[in-house]
Amino acid sequence: MNYRMKPPWTHNIKLRLKKALGMNIFLCDTCKWNWRTTCHYPERPNATWCPDYEKRGK
Ligand code: SF4
Repeated sequence: MNYRMKPPWTHNIKLRLKKALGMNIFLCDTCKWNWRTTCHYPERPNATWCPDYEKRGK
């Protein structure tokens, strides 16, 4: 998948809601690819949207 693909239009709304609720908005914190050797996206470790995100521990 192409990382430059745009997030869905609902993304900003969800992000704002999460921020308002004091939730963690950064996906990389819980992503199983969050290592220098496995993730080469420049957005790491502060990606708020990512097509390759997979929850760690699955
Ligand atoms: S794959 Fe995406 S969410 Fe996971 S560490 Fe890389 S940038 Fe962050």
